[in-house]
Amino acid sequence: MTAGAFRSAVQKLFLYIERNDFKSMDCLFCEIAKGNIPSTKVYEDETVLAFKDINPMAPVHILVIPKEHIADSAADITPENSATVAHIFEIIAKIAKEQELDNGFRVITNSGEDGAQTINHIHFHILGGKKLPEKMA
Ligand code: AMP
Ligand code: ZN
Repeated sequence: MTAGAFRSAVQKLFLYIERNDFKSMDCLFCEIAKGNIPSTKVYEDETVLAFKDINPMAPVHILVIPKEHIADSAADITPENSATVAHIFEIIAKIAKEQELDNGFRVITNSGEDGAQTINHIHFHILGGKKLPEKMA
């Protein structure tokens, strides 16, 4: 690591400490939300970002995330952050219309180890564009 890169890493660390924002340290979706890691954006407003999943499981596979790291997963939804989750579902309906998923679609949020969650920043998968395999629930 160069001295410059080290200095910038330390500065970043202090910024996280100042903001008491440890959750978003090293969080891929926080970095995508900040624009530090590129994504194929489908929708954006003040609180929400939607982008294409890098490893699509269906013809339409979009991830919808809160820009702020308000929760690791659905297990952390509280009265304090549930308005954002409600807003996300409004946006999901809007995206489904824009993507012409008129014949239906599926929304999934994996949570924790048993839920096979891989990125611990709450997110909702929109899957559609074909008849999906038999449902799990
Ligand atoms: P989950 O397994 O529910 O935590 O979902 C994480 C999703 O993020 C997976 O479907 C991945 O394919 C997707 N993913 C991982 N890295 C990226 C990335 N850089 N851009 C877009 N999607 C990603
Ligand atoms: Zn995050």
